[in-house]
Amino acid sequence: MREGFVVWFTGLPASGKTTLAKALEAELRRRGVEPVQRLDGDIVRQDLTRDLGFSKEDRDENIRRVSFVASLLAKNGVPVLCAFVSPYREARRQARMRCPNFVEVYCRAALSALIERDPKGLYRKALAGEISNFTGIDDPYEEPESPEVICDTDRETVEESLGKVLRYLEDRGLIPKGAVARDTAPVANPVIAARHAPPVTHRSSPIPPHGGSLVDLTVTGAEREALIREARGLPGIRLEPYYVREFYCLATGVYSPLAGFMGEKAYRSVVESMRLPDGTVWPLPIVLPVDEGTGERLRPGGAAALVDGDGRVLGVLEDVEIFVRDPAWEAEHVFRTVSPDHPGVARLLAEPRILVGGRVRALELPDPGFPEVSYTPREVREEIARRGWETVAAFQTRNPLHRAHEYLLRCALEVCDGLLLSPLVGETKPGDLPAGVRLRTYRALLDNYFPAERVLIAAFPANMRYAGPREAIFHALCRKNFGATHFIVGRDHAGVGDFYGPYEAQEIFDRFSPGELGIVPLKFRPAFWCRRCGGMVTEKTCPHPESERVSLSGTALREMLRRGETPPPEVTRPEVARILIEATRGEG
Ligand SMILES: [Zn+2]
Repeated sequence: MREGFVVWFTGLPASGKTTLAKALEAELRRRGVEPVQRLDGDIVRQDLTRDLGFSKEDRDENIRRVSFVASLLAKNGVPVLCAFVSPYREARRQARMRCPNFVEVYCRAALSALIERDPKGLYRKALAGEISNFTGIDDPYEEPESPEVICDTDRETVEESLGKVLRYLEDRGLIPKGAVARDTAPVANPVIAARHAPPVTHRSSPIPPHGGSLVDLTVTGAEREALIREARGLPGIRLEPYYVREFYCLATGVYSPLAGFMGEKAYRSVVESMRLPDGTVWPLPIVLPVDEGTGERLRPGGAAALVDGDGRVLGVLEDVEIFVRDPAWEAEHVFRTVSPDHPGVARLLAEPRILVGGRVRALELPDPGFPEVSYTPREVREEIARRGWETVAAFQTRNPLHRAHEYLLRCALEVCDGLLLSPLVGETKPGDLPAGVRLRTYRALLDNYFPAERVLIAAFPANMRYAGPREAIFHALCRKNFGATHFIVGRDHAGVGDFYGPYEAQEIFDRFSPGELGIVPLKFRPAFWCRRCGGMVTEKTCPHPESERVSLSGTALREMLRRGETPPPEVTRPEVARILIEATRGEG
């Protein structure tokens, strides 16, 4: 049996306690935490505390009775959500002593905001002297000294406050971790709504995800338990690390609107026309190749267990479809070359030709690594909303950031509210700098040269394809799912060697209407330091000859670093150079 617990919401009248308790109740039920009991004034006053008034003695007796009932339920494994003004510290302390797993949530709000809001007109009456013993006006409220959770309900949305409570309960292991579906109608925080006219409805981020809603393929609660049992009897598909990452991207909505690995119809449509069968723009096939032996064990229309390298069942693939790919045809369309010198083509040619499509149900989220920068699209969207950014420029990178990149970031940040630095941490080709080292360089650059409150860094867990223009569109759409409104596209984005023209990755955006992309490309020329201009410029902004430029080729720069020489500060910040020298020399 799961452990019971008591979440005790306390705060001034109309501070949002019951609203929050109701939201928590709904979310717990959605996660399959049943039964759950909510207790608030409206519920208990009809019966349990009908005889009590608002004197201190009666208020204490009220809390004593309620906490007694709550403790009985909680000891029998039932989560109990109590929403009471409960103004006296000592009464709350006694409730805490009595109840197992007591979680005090302080719904904190400025009295002025509450008086302004006042949905039942009670503050007005209390101020007019029409009612007495009103907490906050002529009765005291003793603030909690160390509540488990504080929700600033006059500033946060219900969703944000709820998120805090859920995270605390998850961290304590009192409820299962579960991704929160965003398809329920958002609830406006009553306090915030009252202070704005018209009422503010919560936006989880500035722009909708690709396809309209953020996909969340995780299964929770009783459904999950049933699916785990079912998976034991299913044929297994063993996922290489590359495909574990694809699974993670599907499960968390990085690839919204995709809800699984592509079947033949979607695959052919995407390869040929960069669109899903319904017309939605989608430039790269998201497929699952399997070897012949695995393919033979699968039944079309049936299901299969998706298993990682350690034999852990990550999820279930439903409505299985099996088909065969034509690697040359696919390579020609997606990479515009069949040359095995292209790393994306080389991978494609090395993979089995049998593809398995189907809907993904995620039972476990694999560890994406890099915990300090790993956030799901939902989490990044919530943070963007919390920061109030209306425009967000995302920057994809798989390289260290030099002054040239820094300049692009600054230009983007001059016109957008926030910057989402989105380093790719999935598979890259041999020779690319390891993600761990890159992350240290990003931190060094951001900590020393950017305002922390205007930059978010969130890893991009997908694999690199080196598909140039098509991948630029793909990168943009995925960042839209993370909540970005703008996407920085530099020279030869996602290219490799000289397979693509330097600005093809920018030009491809013009083949789609702004509406169907839903994210704005910010197209940049390469930047460099000009001695005459005395700053970072591009050929668009500087009239001087090349001899005035301080710039190094990538190869020359890598050579310098390998020799332990610090590049000019006009090329690389010293804080970044130090980390790169250390890492390059460490490699031997
Ligand atoms: Zn110049």
